[in-house]
Amino acid sequence: MRPEVLNELRDIVGSENVSTSAADLYTYGFDSSIHHHSPEVVIRPGSTEEVSMVVKVAARDHIAITTRGAGTGLCGGAVPLHGGIVLDTTRMNKIREIRVQDLYCVVEAGVVNDKLNEALAPFKFFFPTSPGSGEACTIGGMVAANASGMRAIKYGATRDYVMGLVVVLADGSIVHTGTRTLKNSSGYQLERLFVGSEGTLGIITEVTMRIAPKPKKVAMVMAAFPTLEDAGKCVSKLIATPLLPSACELMDKTCIQAVNKTIQAGLPDCEALCMIEVDGEPEVVERDAQKVQGVARETNAFSVELTHDAKVMAKWTNARKSVMASLSRFGEKFVSVSLADDMAVPISKIPDAVVAFQQIAARNNVIIGTYGHAADGNLHTKMLVDPISEVSWRNGEKAVGEIYDIVIKLGGTVTGEHGVGISKAPFMQKERPTMLTTMAAIKKAMDPQDILNPGKMQEWQGGIIKHLRYPCKDLD
Ligand SMILES: Cc1cc2nc3c(=O)[nH]c(=O)nc-3n(C[C@H](O)[C@H](O)[C@H](O)COP(=O)(O)OP(=O)(O)OC[C@H]3O[C@@H](n4cnc5c(N)ncnc54)[C@H](O)[C@@H]3O)c2cc1C
Repeated sequence: MRPEVLNELRDIVGSENVSTSAADLYTYGFDSSIHHHSPEVVIRPGSTEEVSMVVKVAARDHIAITTRGAGTGLCGGAVPLHGGIVLDTTRMNKIREIRVQDLYCVVEAGVVNDKLNEALAPFKFFFPTSPGSGEACTIGGMVAANASGMRAIKYGATRDYVMGLVVVLADGSIVHTGTRTLKNSSGYQLERLFVGSEGTLGIITEVTMRIAPKPKKVAMVMAAFPTLEDAGKCVSKLIATPLLPSACELMDKTCIQAVNKTIQAGLPDCEALCMIEVDGEPEVVERDAQKVQGVARETNAFSVELTHDAKVMAKWTNARKSVMASLSRFGEKFVSVSLADDMAVPISKIPDAVVAFQQIAARNNVIIGTYGHAADGNLHTKMLVDPISEVSWRNGEKAVGEIYDIVIKLGGTVTGEHGVGISKAPFMQKERPTMLTTMAAIKKAMDPQDILNPGKMQEWQGGIIKHLRYPCKDLD
């Protein structure tokens, strides 16, 4: 990048918010995926106006801009494939308004999910999506990825809470979308276009979000099963009861053993377990908890435990949230990688999916841990790979392809909440062939120079074992 351009960027955001240090360029080349590519400069603007001025400079000089929230994305969305600028939003971290009487709040894009919930707690309100990364991920990143989490089955995903956005477009102009009213039929619902756009259509700087009252009471049931298939059947039977739990987390034996070994979680030694949360008025919670226990026993659970104790619930939830990190310590030499890690299938297809994943793992000589927000059909399969072994990556890549073929055949999607980025790109292209031309046309209309997060989603070409963060060569 030309030194004059770097000086212009320093003038806009202040030199303390521009970095070209080797350490920063290396670090900002990662998100939480398997991919890495360094930018040429990292900048941390503090306002929409500064973002707009930065984009105008980049547009004039055809410089790529990759927006980054907390970098917790698991598919390479924030990895600056074309170098250029990484635009870090974390200085834009003000909660501007909380209006519980109007059911909304207004936050800057860099506000962290859990910080927003801390601010909402005194009002007895919350932003319910509950991603596992809530203590770090930003609201802007969540909108850009349409993130969700444990409570999506009852409370929906981020998209269901976006009422309006302030966005800087690829030419630096600023657009205000949506309203502060719950209902709005006033023109194209442009705010929805930016949900899930992963920084390819614009840079979100402010979000007007719907908020929800917190439930009065919560209870949790932990049920242990003799087979993964039984656990899957429990989930779909529960929904058909009908009963809408506020969360339903499934873990297979590999995940259970990993958290028991790593954090001494003390989970039951079994093939699979479900942690099912119900919430609402006390009498509803009591009734639903009874129903959950009944369904678990009918689907062969051999141990069923109910708790109303907040400390026990926090311990169980922590065990579930520790799966990803614990799997990396499961076997010597192996790391747990996010490959084929976020599919969603129709809820009734969960038993078919989990059985197929086990068969694929055995056939391809890979270890796969399966867990996830099963009640909304969203499963996570973490694959254990020897990161310096080409054979291990090849086996993993083959298993990934087979997993997605099954998912698509079952009527599912390759990503339920993490987004596409790089790691899901070829499979999203396979899943949605009729959408690709329209996606490309929208991108061309909104970012004709292709400077916003280029090379991702529909633009990605080839396989995914590329731009690895590990010391192993890219696969063809
Ligand atoms: C331990 C762990 C658990 C997780 N659990 C969940 C989970 O339960 N549910 C879930 O949905 N995800 C989960 N994730 C994935 C991740 O946390 C989410 O995708 C989250 O939304 C990413 O937010 P971020 O601020 O880190 O965004 P980043 O990773 O920085 O960016 C994600 C994408 O959004 C774009 N982007 C970021 N900010 C903006 C902006 N202001 N404007 C435009 N584009 C932007 C980036 O360019 C990138 O494409 C988990 C990740 C980890 C590491």
